[in-house]
Amino acid sequence: MAQREARVPNVDLAPDIRDNLGTRRIPPLRPSLFPDAGVSVQTLTSSRRPEGLVDVLLVNPPTEDGGIWIRSQHRVGRRSRENMIWPQVELAQMAALLAPDYKVEIIDANAERMGWPEFKKLLEEKRPKYYLTQVTAPTLQNDMYGVFLAKSLGARTMAFGTHVTPMTLETMRPFPALDFVLRGEPEITLRELLDRLEDKTPSDPRVRKMLAETSHLQTRRMGKEVISDRFPVPAEESPFASILGLAWRRGDEIVINPDRPFIPDLNDLPIPLHELLPLDKQRMPMIKGPFTFIVTSRGCPAGCKYCIKHVTYQNTVRVRSAENIVEELEYLKRLGIHNIHMYADLFTVNRDHVVELCNLIIERGLKIRWTCNSRVDYVDEEMLRLMGQAGCWMISWGIESANEMILKRARKGYKKEQAFLALRWAKAAGIKNWGYFIIGLPGETEESIRETIDYAKELPLDIALFHIAAPYPGTPFFYEVVENNWFRPGTKWEEVDMDQSTVLDYENLTAEQLEYWQRRATWEWSMRPGPIFTFLKGLNSWAGFKSAMSVGWQMLQFARG
Ligand code: SF4
Repeated sequence: MAQREARVPNVDLAPDIRDNLGTRRIPPLRPSLFPDAGVSVQTLTSSRRPEGLVDVLLVNPPTEDGGIWIRSQHRVGRRSRENMIWPQVELAQMAALLAPDYKVEIIDANAERMGWPEFKKLLEEKRPKYYLTQVTAPTLQNDMYGVFLAKSLGARTMAFGTHVTPMTLETMRPFPALDFVLRGEPEITLRELLDRLEDKTPSDPRVRKMLAETSHLQTRRMGKEVISDRFPVPAEESPFASILGLAWRRGDEIVINPDRPFIPDLNDLPIPLHELLPLDKQRMPMIKGPFTFIVTSRGCPAGCKYCIKHVTYQNTVRVRSAENIVEELEYLKRLGIHNIHMYADLFTVNRDHVVELCNLIIERGLKIRWTCNSRVDYVDEEMLRLMGQAGCWMISWGIESANEMILKRARKGYKKEQAFLALRWAKAAGIKNWGYFIIGLPGETEESIRETIDYAKELPLDIALFHIAAPYPGTPFFYEVVENNWFRPGTKWEEVDMDQSTVLDYENLTAEQLEYWQRRATWEWSMRPGPIFTFLKGLNSWAGFKSAMSVGWQMLQFARG
């Protein structure tokens, strides 16, 4: 005490404070050591999952602005100006591959017109163990918000689709909540990953067969060289190392495993669990009542440079048997669905197949109304007549441009007279024509756009949709745009959307000019007696009225800019 008193400055302090001063010494600086509660929180979130909750949640997430978007395994993503609610048939397909071994649910927030607050609440109720999301380039950040929410609830997160496949690192790096990417054809990779995590074996022998057929490394011929795939990481290091088609995280590193071979026989796929989809919410212009998709084939032998088939199915073509498709049609009929879209890269890819399918539909007396897509050089009069007899009432045609030089350069390669013939044959068979056009393919000028608008007006079309060329990553068009420096400076991948804006700046045509011409084409084509009459015909029921008014209003808003 005597010593302490000696250090205290000579000030007038109360005795208790004077005593305390001696204990307030400044400790020496220690090494920093901050608590890490993350690991225990992770255990907490997963251990608190009550029994009986959903194992796997397959999700088409909400959109940022509440708009309607098209997300798909098979095609590119885009905003739906035509108000089409795209059936999430690939989610139903994956559900069929997992059931009954896993408890699976599908949320199609887009069809349900569900916003993020409602979706978040639902996610908290469902508490999925595994969360698999649809993703598109233009909705990437938005879609990754769902991944973040699921991850915060303890789920393992996965994404698939035509953006994350060619842009795996670009997606996984900035979005650390995403655990896995299922690259390419996702179904069997998903099944193998879940089985590895849950230590299960598929109960369905067809699934076991597909697993066996797609789990071997591939050999490719590149010119004179033969290249064999190799695993980037030794299998003993991780349970994920040997799953083909999977991208995963090893600590801070992102590992991309070799590609998974395509499923050899699509007839092995179980029929999608359509009943898990909101069938009454799915809609397409001019269709009254519930409708859905049937995937009849995968792949297309043509080589259009802008087409996402270069990413999805490349140069392969696989066709389901007519019997197998009819089995699904009969199943859908039992679910009360009579409106079908035959969903394929190119439905008429094989004439014999189309003829066999149509004959079987007629033979079995299936009273269905269906639509499909085609190319003007992949049909003939007799086949179209048979398609009409079997219930086909509309075909969407990729017409793209009136300018044959542009078509040739884009490797679309058909002759204009073929378009006139094919569309007239279709009309004569009682089939409506829906034409898709692309503005801004390489070589485009204001004169060639003018040519395309005039051509669209001359063709016997019931609907026409004008898109702007979009260089989706992984397509030959994308590499052409990169090489020629046609990307507008500062472009983000998320802006690649063929329906709303362009990322292209050509020397002779700026992004603004392309957008102007897209709107002008829509306006000029729609504001004519024929299309207005088609539109008015859509008003003959309350559902038709609502759908036609909404589409008409959106088209008008869009065309006016
Ligand atoms: S025909 Fe259609 S599916 Fe085939 S490559 Fe061309 S755009 Fe793609």
